Order: sequence, then C-alpha cells, then structure tokens
Amino acid sequence: MSELAATPLLEVDRLSVHFPQHGGGWFRRHRQVLRAVENVSLTVESGETVALVGESGSGKTTLGSVVAGLRTPTAGRLRFRGQPLEGARRGIQIVFQDPYSALDPRMPVSSLIAEPLLIQRVGTAAERRARTAALVEQVGLPADALNRYPHEFSGGQRQRIAIARALAPDPALIVADEPLSALDVSVQSQILNLLKSIQETRKLSYLFISHDLGVVNHLADRVAVLYLGRLAELAPAAELFARPSHPYTQALLTAIPRIGRRRTRGSRTLRSEMPSPLAPPPGCVFHPRCPKAQAICRTEPPALAPAPGRPRQLAACHFKD
Ligand code: SF4
Repeated sequence: MSELAATPLLEVDRLSVHFPQHGGGWFRRHRQVLRAVENVSLTVESGETVALVGESGSGKTTLGSVVAGLRTPTAGRLRFRGQPLEGARRGIQIVFQDPYSALDPRMPVSSLIAEPLLIQRVGTAAERRARTAALVEQVGLPADALNRYPHEFSGGQRQRIAIARALAPDPALIVADEPLSALDVSVQSQILNLLKSIQETRKLSYLFISHDLGVVNHLADRVAVLYLGRLAELAPAAELFARPSHPYTQALLTAIPRIGRRRTRGSRTLRSEMPSPLAPPPGCVFHPRCPKAQAICRTEPPALAPAPGRPRQLAACHFKD
C-alpha cells in the first residue's frame, strides 16, 4: 500500500440506503422499509484495498453500487478526494461479478474498452485506439483480442476485458463486486494476481466486495464486516484475521474458504438464518444468532468502538474481544 494521504480518497459518511416496500394488502397498511445499509461510515485511502464482507443480504453490494454511482443513498454523504462524489465519476469504476452479462455481446473488444472514453469524450480517436491496445496488453490478453467478440473468450478472459474497460478512464478507485466468484477456481488466482499487479502499477484503490474471506485475506489492507446493513467490525486485515473482535466476524472466520478448496459448512453459530432486513431485531441486530448475547444486547444497540488495546480495530459489540 502506498503512503496514506491526509485526505482519504473516498469518505463514506453515515450512509444509509432504504427501500420503501410498495405493494397492496398488508404492505399498503403497514408501510415497511427495507434498510439495506444503515449508518455506515468508512474510508478508502489512496492505493488501499478495503474489503466489504458479509453474508448475502448484508448490504455490501448495495453499498458498493452507491459508491459506484449506480444508486442514490437515502441519507449520508460521499466524498472523493475531499469533494462531493458527483463531480468525480471518472475516478470510480466498477467491475461486476458476471463478465458474461457485463459485456455487450455485439461489440468487439476494442469498442467495449474504448466506449467509456468515447462517452466521456476523452482524447482523439487515435489516442483512444492506442490506450485500448495498451490496456489489452496490460490485462494479459493477446493483441488480436481487439477485433474479437466476447463469446470468443473464456470466463477469465472476459473478466480481463471487463477489467480493461474499467481501467480505460484511468480511475483511482475500482469497486470490484465479487469479481472472482463467477469464475472457475483454477482461474480465480490468475485474476486475483492481475488485480494485485494492476494496483501496484497504477497505485489504484479497491473497494473489494466478497463473501470469500480466503480471497479477502490475500488482497485486503482493511476489512469492513457488514451484518444486516450495519458495520459489525472495521479493522486492518492482519489484525482482524489474527484476532477477530466481533462474534459475527469470529463465526465467519471459522468457515474460512480458500482458493482452490470448496467452501466448508458454516459454523454452528451461523446455521440459523439471518433475520429479515425488513424487521431487524432490536438492540444488537446480531443478538438472535450470537453465542455471547446478554440481556443488554436485546435492548441496547452497541456503538462501533475500538477493541480493548487495539485502537485501529473497531467492533460494534458490548462484549468485544
Ligand atoms: Fe453478541 Fe451482544 Fe456483542 Fe451483539 S452486542 S455481538 S449480541 S455480545
């Protein structure tokens, strides 16, 4: 990771994303709100990888889509290099999970990669061609890939095309939304290594969304653990993996999968289902599944605060380790 600047590259400040539920009958009488993300604050520094982890329904993809500008938050603020995010759209790009549906099958690779530049009127046609050719090389595709179409490539190669397309506007931050999980296990390491080498070359930052803590352990500088849309833990990766503070993080780590190995079954703690985000439990939202829950946990939401003796490791728990 490069030296940290005084102003974070990205600031997410008390961000919430709510989805009012529209419908007839019961829904009409009892206006329900799905709280996908609730009061989340975090930063991403220049050159840093921050991973968003949690089970499905934790809010990590919703939060990533807000940062990528694909969704408007209900409340809170986003700043990029200290400025409102709206003026910095080129600086943040996204790579999706599924390279099959992310690329228009009717466009050759040259057009797919150059399209963001064309839309933003960057450079002359010759400059765009040169930049596209350089990107194809940087992501490890052969030069003749430029004139071919997405269906002519494997899943891993398509993800390389999607990465080249995301890199075209020269972003400072890439939101990578489960970029490995649609790929064969044998290809995942190659794409992971590509993401790492691009980061080193370009001093790029990643907001890396993943349910796979094995991958996160390879890539992340810091980890944000989300549960029911809230931050459960936010800590440097080394500290979090060595000594998780929050009981939810501890439970996730007991079932850590590795690249090249099938996911093991969840721990006993997490065998029960996550509650509905339409009706989050009172107090600590994790209390119905928490092996350490006490009476206070059922009524008092815990604040995100440092673990004992570890000022950079924050956890939202009354009884943090
Ligand atoms: Fe478990 Fe209580 Fe901590 Fe919540 S606050 S994680 S219920 S111990």
